[in-house]
Amino acid sequence: MAEWLLVCHGLATLLVLVSFLCGQWPIFQGTFIHRIHFFITFGAYDYFRRFIHFVCGSRGSNALLSVEYYCCDRPNPIIQLLYLIIIGGTYYFIATSSFNYIPGYYLSGVHRYTSFLAVGVGILFFLLTSFSDPGVVNSANVSQYLSAYPYDNVIFSEKECSTCKIPKPARSKHCSICDRCVARFDHHCAWMNNCIGERNTRYFMAFILWHFLICIYGLIALALVLAGRMKELQVIHILTAYYGIENSFRKLAPFVVQWLLNAYNTQILIMVFLAVISLLLAGFFTYHAKLCLTNTTTNESFKWQEHLSWQRKVNEAKASAAALKASLGELSEERKPQESKWKRYFRRSHLEEVKVVKNNMYDRGFLHNIYEVVVPFSTRRSFSVTKSKSG
Ligand SMILES: [Zn+2]
Ligand SMILES: [Zn+2]
Repeated sequence: MAEWLLVCHGLATLLVLVSFLCGQWPIFQGTFIHRIHFFITFGAYDYFRRFIHFVCGSRGSNALLSVEYYCCDRPNPIIQLLYLIIIGGTYYFIATSSFNYIPGYYLSGVHRYTSFLAVGVGILFFLLTSFSDPGVVNSANVSQYLSAYPYDNVIFSEKECSTCKIPKPARSKHCSICDRCVARFDHHCAWMNNCIGERNTRYFMAFILWHFLICIYGLIALALVLAGRMKELQVIHILTAYYGIENSFRKLAPFVVQWLLNAYNTQILIMVFLAVISLLLAGFFTYHAKLCLTNTTTNESFKWQEHLSWQRKVNEAKASAAALKASLGELSEERKPQESKWKRYFRRSHLEEVKVVKNNMYDRGFLHNIYEVVVPFSTRRSFSVTKSKSG
């Protein structure tokens, strides 16, 4: 019973943690995870703010506001530290709970070192994404970015950044948290305390993919540790020979699960954690890979949504205006041979013919799109040559 309580507790903690950290991701839109996220980040906080105001008055709420400003609206390393705590903590728990079983029956001793290496590479990708230049646009390089990214006059048209006072190249956005314009802006990532843009989308993608792979590696390694323990302790033999349990998967499984939850609950909890995180990362990676393959950024995908829904409305208005005009024409042309009533009835409505197309001029085939992410414009030779010439 106690083991099940522990597992439920672990799962609940995990759900809250996942909802808090990732609930705002587009893949969770409209799900209960999004609702929990809303409650934790907004609803509960609202009650807390009112409580502070009630207890400490306006001075208390002002202090809270400045903390909120620092944590949410300014660059700060809080969530970066959280990442390091999560990855360090998980590795620490795996090492203390399972390294004494490595080498084991199914796992060789080399995994003590390869696991350390895998986590090290993960942290390296984290540092690369966090501290690399996302492609900051300034007066020195703005002309290169303007020629690299032409305006499509659909979602991007000629504009000046009102804060930086420089022309805004297509696909760029002014990050309000970092207070700078970033080329091919994707989003501001709180985990990295950095914008994700033209120059570091590749590290960001590598980061997500690598962490997915680490989770899978950890899952398989822990499963092999537990399988090895079962083999070494002859669990199946003891269960069948001494407890007289029938040697079939269906009969043995409940006892084995109970034994695992009893003796190795830390490993089981870590495995559940890794499984959930790997699913999240797989979803997140798929979403971003789809964007990369179509040469769209997260920022642009929102712009496209807006543009397409607006276009749909315009087209619908046009179609209904045309339909009205046609029916007025029919009324005046009484002499014309009448269209059969049935035919008119079954004729498709004009509204059904409304079609909107996403004409993304930056999408030039997935090979080119991948190349653009891996080798950004500003790192190509011609860009740096012109940059040094102009500088
Ligand atoms: Zn700007
Ligand atoms: Zn930013």
